[in-house]
Amino acid sequence: MITRFFAVIFFIIPALSVGSACAQPANRTRALEEFVIGNAQFVLLHELAHLVINEKNVPILGPEESAADYIASMLLVRPVVTPQAGTEAFLRFALSTADGFVIAWQRAQSMGAAVPYWGSHSLNVQRFSTVACLLYGSNPVRFSTLPALVQMPPARMRSCPSEYQKAAYSIDWLFETFGRGSDDPPGEPVEIRYEQPPSLTSLRLLQAIQKHGFIERTFGRLNEFFALDEPVTFVMRACGDPQAAWLPDERTLVFCYELLDTYAFMSSDQHTEAIESMLQSPQPAQ
Ligand SMILES: [Zn+2]
Repeated sequence: MITRFFAVIFFIIPALSVGSACAQPANRTRALEEFVIGNAQFVLLHELAHLVINEKNVPILGPEESAADYIASMLLVRPVVTPQAGTEAFLRFALSTADGFVIAWQRAQSMGAAVPYWGSHSLNVQRFSTVACLLYGSNPVRFSTLPALVQMPPARMRSCPSEYQKAAYSIDWLFETFGRGSDDPPGEPVEIRYEQPPSLTSLRLLQAIQKHGFIERTFGRLNEFFALDEPVTFVMRACGDPQAAWLPDERTLVFCYELLDTYAFMSSDQHTEAIESMLQSPQPAQ
């Protein structure tokens, strides 16, 4: 199993590097912000998946971290409600997220970091393959170039459409079973708080995030679709570590500014041109 993963990795990285030429300087800021916001949106949805699973006692089979990844990925690939900026914006976020996972894996490998086999999260390269497979499975016609770009093995490629269909069925079940009914009263509110950023980078990214407004919109959707039993607090703050977590005892979702800084640092490796080529010629979703 391990040998196979490594075999796949060594193909993935050079394949993605094909599209790694830097964006033009004039587009660099926009590309950086999109990469950071895309990854941050995924992280926020992942943590909200934990919140809903815990709040509603959602029965899940398999690791909760994997379930949260599937929920977050599907909400980007197949939004429940079309976001303000359109579904294309969420597809770009999904591609940025996939890119982020493979860059994190690549950097850890190059630094000789230990592979966290026993971690509760899947390995970053597996989280990358989950997002990539669901994306491809959502519309194999539109994303026909994706498997070759990431050297997805044919067996996984063939299973992606059914993997996507099963995930879509499960997401529908989650919302139908635990979501707010049309006559249900609204649940408790969410307080959103931004503390002082610790660096100029995180200050600039916070300004971009607040201008984008995805955090407020995401919590608005949460309140719309799920009735919270008790109030929840979201806080973005300096923690000393690049992390985000739902803390059930404190009913607080913490998003650390250091995670934004990390994504900004990683964005120099992002594969903007590969993402652009992937999203050309939109085709109807399947
Ligand atoms: Zn998690």
